[in-house]
Parts: sequence; C-alpha cells; structure tokens
Amino acid sequence: MSEDCIFCKIVRGEIPARKVFENDEMLAFHDIHPLRPVHLLLIPKKHIASLAGVGPEDAPLLGNMMAAANRLAVEAGSPEGFRLIVNVGSIGGQEVPHLHFHIVGGPEMVGPMLRRAENS
Ligand code: AMP
Repeated sequence: MSEDCIFCKIVRGEIPARKVFENDEMLAFHDIHPLRPVHLLLIPKKHIASLAGVGPEDAPLLGNMMAAANRLAVEAGSPEGFRLIVNVGSIGGQEVPHLHFHIVGGPEMVGPMLRRAENS
C-alpha cells in the first residue's frame, strides 16, 4: 500500500468509488471520467506503480486480472467485446501511478486503436 496513492485510497475505502467487483487481490470500479458507455478500471489491491514494475511473482495476479476482464466487460454491458488498455509511464500516457487495466466498451465500437502519428 502507498499512503498517497489515490487508487490505494480507494482500496482502503478512504475515497469513494463505484465498485463493481472485489476479491482479495483485485478491485474493479467505474472510471470517474468514462470515455465510453462502459469504462471500468481493474486494479491490483497491492500497490504496483505500473506494468514496468511487475516481476515474475506478479504473473498469477496479472493472469487472474486478465481472466476477470471479459466477465466484468460483459456484466457492465459490453457483451460483444471490449478493449483492454494499460498505459505505462509517461510515453504511455499513464496519469495514475498504480497499475490499472482500462476495460472500455459498450454498444458501439470503441474506434481505432491508435491515431497514426503525423510523421509516420
Ligand atoms: P491513466 O491515464 O491510464 O493513468 O488513467 C487514469 C484513469 O483514472 C483516468 O481515466 C481517470 O479518469 C481515472 N481516475 C482518476 N481518479 C479516479 C477516481 N477517483 N475514481 C475513478 N477513476 C479515476
């Protein structure tokens, strides 16, 4: 746990979140600024700053999170598929330094994976 981390505070119940699933190792809740009708965040309860900070010991946890994602997307209203996004570090656009999977979907396609850079 990290004292100042906003997602650790959600895990500890110190700030509110619209939780949809929780077990001993992970927690899922609605993103506060959803980009699509379905936009959940799935986080490990253990503080891991980013995917760049995982080790072999985290493989079972990460596997369990991946395995939970489809069920969470279906239950949240995206039965035909979804996108799983993990932003890593400043290049990846990560704003909250606690590992999180974005589960994004809904009734319409979520759109292109990336916009082509101007110079490519
Ligand atoms: P990222 O840019 O990948 O770090 O995404 C961080 C995400 O966390 C953004 O989509 C924010 O809208 C979301 N977020 C930040 N604070 C909260 C909060 N208190 N509850 C729910 N979602 C949050």
